[in-house]
Amino acid sequence: MSALLPGSTIGILGGGQLGRMTAMAARSLGYRVQVMDPDPSCPARFVVDACFEGAWDDARAAADLARGSDVVTLEIEQVSLACLEAAAKFAPVRPGREMLRIIQDRILQKTWLSENGFPVGEFRPIQSETDLQNAAIALGGRLFVKSARGGYDGRSQAKIGFGESAHSGQAEVAETWKLLGERPAIAEKALDLDREISVMVARAPNGETKSFPAATNHHERQILAWSVIPSSIPASLEEKAQRLARSIADKMHLEGILAVEMFVTRDDRLLVNELAPRPHNSYHASERACVTSQFEQMVRAVCDLPLGDTSVVVPAAIVNLLGDLWLDQQPRFDQALRVPGVRLHLYEKHQPRKGRKMGHLSAVGKTPEEAVQRVLEAKDLL
Ligand code: ADP
Ligand code: MG
Repeated sequence: MSALLPGSTIGILGGGQLGRMTAMAARSLGYRVQVMDPDPSCPARFVVDACFEGAWDDARAAADLARGSDVVTLEIEQVSLACLEAAAKFAPVRPGREMLRIIQDRILQKTWLSENGFPVGEFRPIQSETDLQNAAIALGGRLFVKSARGGYDGRSQAKIGFGESAHSGQAEVAETWKLLGERPAIAEKALDLDREISVMVARAPNGETKSFPAATNHHERQILAWSVIPSSIPASLEEKAQRLARSIADKMHLEGILAVEMFVTRDDRLLVNELAPRPHNSYHASERACVTSQFEQMVRAVCDLPLGDTSVVVPAAIVNLLGDLWLDQQPRFDQALRVPGVRLHLYEKHQPRKGRKMGHLSAVGKTPEEAVQRVLEAKDLL
């Protein structure tokens, strides 16, 4: 296999902020980039050579994208398998169809992890209300229920047994089943978390594999709020987490990058939460913290170039800017940018909506704690 050199064209399925930031890294390396997205004014639109309009299951648009591309990759796992098959007729698709098939269904994904010996929390596949009633008993009363397909940022998810519902017991289960559209789902025991971390790993078609230092992630209402690299976890846990991510990547024959979200429980277990075969929100700080960003690493991986050094240069943190901040008035960026070490990254989304990721602030610091403190201070000034 030979590397695709600068001057080649990379096709990306998806033109959201992740596709946009990948495209910017690819352009810096001298590649041409085109994307496919349902929204003709998607964030990547403004930084790419061409944008093909097509829904996530539009195989014809995927074929059009692939026809003029030397390699096709993706920034969202909801792209249909039919799209990947159509694209694969014209260009290598990295990551490939089989990996996406497993990852895009939470039931298949957790089952694959557990059958391959990777540590996960207790879970049950749910096909009916009865399954959910039984799972609620078997898993000890407090659980997360997640639709098998299509959720992100805590959407298509519900909790049972947290006292948030007007009902309890069987009635709450019935209500949850309805709320999630009576569709296949996965029920997970609610874990007592010490912290959440993620590890980004890259693997090139030639088999070279490299993991990044772990990020520590802080969620609010099940959406990532802020994230920092390095993670400040003990060295032995860091080593274990990176090894885990690399072995998942190898076992899946990854071609591209893969984010492995993990839970560290209060009783010191390291469990895999979920996989994302694309750039990940928790590694936006890699642009500043690491020698090589996740975006450049993805380009190198899908082009079969040597993978970049992932070591930390300086601790860096990011905080997400959700559309909520725009609802009253334009955020006070002039104030936020006064904080030392802070930078702003906006995704050119023209319509702010509650919960919509519009951009992020990043900050470097002498320590991870200082980076977090600065980025949160800057956000408060908005
Ligand atoms: P999404 O695709 O929306 O990111 P996740 O499965 O990662 O879905 O869940 C979002 C967040 O909800 C997690 O990062 C974590 O904070 C919380 N969460 C999810 N599952 C569990 C669980 N089994 N126990 C405790 N917290 C959980
Ligand atoms: Mg998640």
